[in-house]
Amino acid sequence: MSFPHRTSLNATRRAAELDALAGGEVVDLLVIGGGVTGAGIALDAAARGLSVALVEARDLAFGTSRWSSKLVHGGLRYLAKGEVRLAHESAVERGILMTRTAPHLSRPLPQLFPLHENVSRGGAGFVMAGLRAGDALRRAARTPSALLPPPRRVSGPEALALAPGLRTNGLRGGLLSFDGQLTDDARLVVALARTAAGYGARILTRLRVTTAAGDGVEAHDLVADRTVSLRARSVVNAAGVWAGSLVDSVRLRPSLGSHVVVDGATLGIGGTALTVPVPGERSRFVIVLPQRNGLVYIGLTDEPFDGPVPDEPAAPAADVAYLLEVASSVLERKLTDADVLGSYAGLRPLLEGTGRSADLSRKHAVLRAPNGVLTIVGGKLTTYRRMAQDAVDAAVAAASLTAAASPTQSLPLVGAASRPALSTVDATPRLVASYGTEAPRVAALATLDEDLGAEVAGEITAAEVVWAVRHEGALDASDVLDRRTRIGLVPARADAARDRVTDLVHRALSGLTPAT
Ligand SMILES: Cc1cc2nc3c(=O)[nH]c(=O)nc-3n(C[C@H](O)[C@H](O)[C@H](O)COP(=O)(O)OP(=O)(O)OC[C@H]3O[C@@H](n4cnc5c(N)ncnc54)[C@H](O)[C@@H]3O)c2cc1C
Repeated sequence: MSFPHRTSLNATRRAAELDALAGGEVVDLLVIGGGVTGAGIALDAAARGLSVALVEARDLAFGTSRWSSKLVHGGLRYLAKGEVRLAHESAVERGILMTRTAPHLSRPLPQLFPLHENVSRGGAGFVMAGLRAGDALRRAARTPSALLPPPRRVSGPEALALAPGLRTNGLRGGLLSFDGQLTDDARLVVALARTAAGYGARILTRLRVTTAAGDGVEAHDLVADRTVSLRARSVVNAAGVWAGSLVDSVRLRPSLGSHVVVDGATLGIGGTALTVPVPGERSRFVIVLPQRNGLVYIGLTDEPFDGPVPDEPAAPAADVAYLLEVASSVLERKLTDADVLGSYAGLRPLLEGTGRSADLSRKHAVLRAPNGVLTIVGGKLTTYRRMAQDAVDAAVAAASLTAAASPTQSLPLVGAASRPALSTVDATPRLVASYGTEAPRVAALATLDEDLGAEVAGEITAAEVVWAVRHEGALDASDVLDRRTRIGLVPARADAARDRVTDLVHRALSGLTPAT
């Protein structure tokens, strides 16, 4: 796939593009926030032929977009609330992402609902009816069953074959279904931003907006420690849970969701996710999510969050204890604090006055302030593309811009290819799942300099650190550890790798590493 502009993001490009904009160049659309929503908007607008700048206070995916469950949902939870249109939209967006825009960054995830003695026959029937409804959504969205097979009941031995760590006592079988899973949420954001850059969008990190108006923003450049004024014909605030700090009229009521990180070998569930019923509740579940790298993320809580919004929320000890306890209820081996390798928490950007779950309907999500700034909040990672399309439609209408129709439904992100094509890419499956068709270029770095073939943490190599700096806009070790790779989800591994990564970042920024 070739793009009209370069897709590489790096410090040199950032400096040149920021200088041009600070020098007075006016863009059609300026988007504040480099999460999945902002990056999606930048791509949508740039692909329609608009001139675009994205300004992000810290780093791509610094906010909520890296703290998700990394699922591409089919909309079942919306259906359960009677939100049929939203459920359909979610299923459609899941299909678009998994088959066209980002097959390389997503995969079908088998999910098992274990049937132990505490799940009645009626309860199992209720869950199966929900799974069948979810499958009807898949069919309506025309996502092939070869990709996401229909749900089915499995026997006790089959359940154990899928997830050997399940508690055998009282196990009479399970309900097996499939949903979409991302390689990683932050990597999706980086791919979106790079694809937007490929259509000419200027992606500017370390630029904190201090004042937003309908015709531009004032921002603090954290690299050069200076204030810049950027001018635009329209401004979209996609600052997520921080959106209210830029536009007074936007009132958010964040909700905190926590996950625990454990070693998959401890649980013995292989590649199958578990949906664990919360004892005493009919439709609340804890999800146990195996990752490609052998880790397992266990989530998810949903608690109202009061007080100032922190840069990086922490998972409360009570959430960690609750998640371990519920997950353990279906496992042979009970999980304890000693099993916890890490934990993370994110804040859902919910509009005040809406329900607790994040299913804002789109018509409530794009708000126009008296000064002309458009704010987009709510939605889900899964529906980013549709949200972006709506936000750009609103900006085009409000500022009378001339733009083509949104092409993003059929626009592959950088590195994307069909699943059959991806299976022939000459690189390890792990690299292909992170870099898609670019994986051989990442691997080639190690052939140019054998030091770059060395691992810095787990299977992550020095070559990936260099790639992150030269092509993915990483400006320091934290960008690499916490967002380009997710080494930081296990703090002990990040601590062990930090000095080496810092040195590699320095060398790459100084042009002392080979390029591919
Ligand atoms: C625990 C949890 C689990 C979830 N799981 C899933 C899931 O599995 N699947 C799914 O589809 N959805 C999931 N979601 C929802 C999804 O993660 C969010 O809806 C989505 O990530 C929000 O993205 P965003 O871009 O709107 O916000 P953010 O990702 O928070 O992006 C906002 C950005 O704005 C920047 N910013 C803030 N202030 C300024 C400023 N003044 N100047 C410049 N930049 C600024 C921030 O640094 C940040 O990077 C989950 C949410 C939570 C909390």
